[in-house]
Amino acid sequence: MTHKPIIKFENVSKSFDDNGELILKDINFELESGKFYTLLGASGSGKSTILNIIAGLTDATSGDIYLDGERINDVPINKRDVHTVFQNYALLPHKNVFDNIAFPLKIRKIDKHEIEKRVMEALKLVRLTGFEHRRIQKLSGGQKQRVAIARAIINQPKVILLDEPLSALDLKLRTEMQYELRALQQKLGITFIFVTHDQEESLAMSDWIFIINEGEIIQSGTPVDIYDEPINRFVATFIGESNIVKGIMLSDYLVEFNGKKFESVDGGMRQNEAVDVVIRPEDLRQTLPDEGKLLVRVKTQLFRGVHYEIIATDDLGQEWMIHSTRQAIVGEVIGLDFDPEDIHIMRLNETEEDFDARIEEYVEEETIEAGLINAIEEEMVVDGTKD
Ligand code: ADP
Ligand code: MG
Repeated sequence: MTHKPIIKFENVSKSFDDNGELILKDINFELESGKFYTLLGASGSGKSTILNIIAGLTDATSGDIYLDGERINDVPINKRDVHTVFQNYALLPHKNVFDNIAFPLKIRKIDKHEIEKRVMEALKLVRLTGFEHRRIQKLSGGQKQRVAIARAIINQPKVILLDEPLSALDLKLRTEMQYELRALQQKLGITFIFVTHDQEESLAMSDWIFIINEGEIIQSGTPVDIYDEPINRFVATFIGESNIVKGIMLSDYLVEFNGKKFESVDGGMRQNEAVDVVIRPEDLRQTLPDEGKLLVRVKTQLFRGVHYEIIATDDLGQEWMIHSTRQAIVGEVIGLDFDPEDIHIMRLNETEEDFDARIEEYVEEETIEAGLINAIEEEMVVDGTKD
């Protein structure tokens, strides 16, 4: 990273009891300023604990936490330039909207006119202009969450921590708020760390996602990276519907599954290594039976609005999910076609570090090879040995 990280975790572990089980296991990351980060994981995986350690609501058992270059392990909550937005809003129910938003500024004894100006600005940003005198109890869930967000941004903290802030909202409102939050973050340029267990939400909103499982970061990357190249079965299933079958990597770029050999774009594994193979439902194309790479029989079909979701079984009894704009007939035998780059290979038990190292190595080799081929072809053109 070229910039100084806004938040840095160095070997952070957490246990809630003395001889106890580790809730967080050696967490390391560096966050860049001004980005939208998401911690994605199932309930109980340790997401809130990470936020609470940043906010100072709980201590790390070991390791160091830095905010904008300063070690903050021993800095009290109110001296940390971060603000948390909670799922239950944490608003003062008997006060009106204005007083709730103004609250952090009043504590800091900011001038009255300045407070008024900044509250009005914040209200405008969360689209609640005109609501300043409304009582909190008279607001809808979405409006309450907007007030909580206005209160978070009014202090212009370095980092805003959002702990499942949209989980209590219905689906339509949640989608609306996803757009608004993302737009707001980009406009303000404040670092957001957003916690969710909803993978679609994380894919839609984030610059960068950390997938957390049982107190560990399993994989991190951009939404596209993680969706396209899940490092293992856990990530692949967590991050969307997938077909995952057992396979064997015969050599670089050649994988065997379903008793057949397929060209792939992955490499850097041992010869004949056992692997998991992922193919996304939207990457499978229906063909005539004799034109597909796999032969399957259609078991069920559901219309999902934009596509048909087809479940079909191969002759080994494995189920394949296909997303297709073309309808199939239940009971019919169809072919399935896919491209080498649609086959994602995952090593069993590979860590993120190993994964990154391996990808780097074989991508490098590939680039050198491609460069050589280009050079030779160019020479051939110059020589006239190739037209
Ligand atoms: P998440 O936010 O991902 O759902 P949490 O960070 O809240 O997960 O919790 C992670 C684990 O730590 C859970 O097993 C939870 O039971 C445990 N835990 C959280 N807070 C406490 C606490 N104050 N005392 C003991 N255990 C806790
Ligand atoms: Mg939580």
